[in-house]
Amino acid sequence: MNILVINAGSSSLKYQLHHMESQTVLAAGRVERIGSDTAMLTHEAGEQEYHRVLEVLDHNVAVKHVLRLLTDPQYGGVHDRAAVDAVGHRVVHGGEAFTQSVLVNADVIRQLKKLYDLAPLHNPAHVTGMLAVEANLPDVPQVAVFDTAFHQTMPPYVYRYPIPTVLYARHKVRKYGFHGTSHMYVSQRAAHLCGKPLEQLKIITCHIGNGASIAAIQGGKSVDTSMGMTPLEGLMMGSRSGDIDPAIVPFVMAKEELSASEINSMLNKHSGLLAVSGFSGDMREIMRRMDEGDAHATLAFEMFAYRLRKYIGAYVAAMDGIDCLVFTAGIGENAAVLRAHVCNRLGFFGITLDEAQNARAQPKERRISTETSQVHVFVIPTNEERVIAEDTYRLVQPRHAP
Ligand code: ADP
Repeated sequence: MNILVINAGSSSLKYQLHHMESQTVLAAGRVERIGSDTAMLTHEAGEQEYHRVLEVLDHNVAVKHVLRLLTDPQYGGVHDRAAVDAVGHRVVHGGEAFTQSVLVNADVIRQLKKLYDLAPLHNPAHVTGMLAVEANLPDVPQVAVFDTAFHQTMPPYVYRYPIPTVLYARHKVRKYGFHGTSHMYVSQRAAHLCGKPLEQLKIITCHIGNGASIAAIQGGKSVDTSMGMTPLEGLMMGSRSGDIDPAIVPFVMAKEELSASEINSMLNKHSGLLAVSGFSGDMREIMRRMDEGDAHATLAFEMFAYRLRKYIGAYVAAMDGIDCLVFTAGIGENAAVLRAHVCNRLGFFGITLDEAQNARAQPKERRISTETSQVHVFVIPTNEERVIAEDTYRLVQPRHAP
């Protein structure tokens, strides 16, 4: 069975075509700058690469281009459209309505539309992507896989904010958490690498990329996570502030005469590593300048690492223990210096890093703690697309049964 995994953003559409039985990716690519006459189409299948700049005015046209390329005799991954058996969509916000992946139908689309307020940039784009697929592949089942679903197991004393209850009742203001597919996947891999059932383990997973979040996973269930109602809460990130004193918001709005949308943009796009370093939100660049002795880069790095370490400590307390610590995503998988900086100050919890394993350059799945470390520390490359493909496969199976 071939499953097309789609991540539709407001002006982009990323895709991968998975062949489930062989566990291979037949083709992958992205369309960027949708809505313009200079959209960029990048597609790869095996050794073949295809790049074009062309007019793509909406997601419908983007999906048409993707299907054309997937079935192209030279660049394609399959012979014809009929070989695309199902489509799985990454959906950022499932609110309280979706606690697991679902087959897309008219009712699901209606519920997703009700959640637009909670993810105004992402959810409308996902629905647009689903409608575009429906228009081009009318009989192909589609599945929605939610970033928030895995965290729906958090108890109320974790997900509620200590603000007036009416805001929860009226607007569903609460913690939802994100990166759920990634936290779920790497925690399952960690249990596998430990050789113990997930149900018996207390695992802390650090998904540290441009966006960063950490999760406490007890017995296979998310019991706390650092992102909140939106992805702004929690850890310091590439260009997001993470946790700050909430009173800073009205203070800065008044002093700098900023609107709600301007302060939102400041905290999401002009804060974090980018703001503190003053030159970049990219960890590679920060580490390079830190090596050259740049004081701003050093401060940005130290703040980033310190805040991550504090959250790890908090989650050990939340679960009353820890068996495994996992690093994943661009920074978590690659930045050995950051992992060492964080772990070497967590000895109190029984964490001892194997410096040689940690320093190994390739981002491969591996243990980076010593044999005698009480806590297993792992680097586990995340694979959200694979999880989306597998969930889709699982949900569409009955439709394909005889
Ligand atoms: P996104 O959240 O956009 O998916 P990624 O998971 O791709 O982000 O992570 C991007 C981050 O990973 C960037 O800050 C980048 O600098 C960092 N990164 C990638 N490779 C390395 C590396 N070798 N060393 C340090 N940081 C790295």
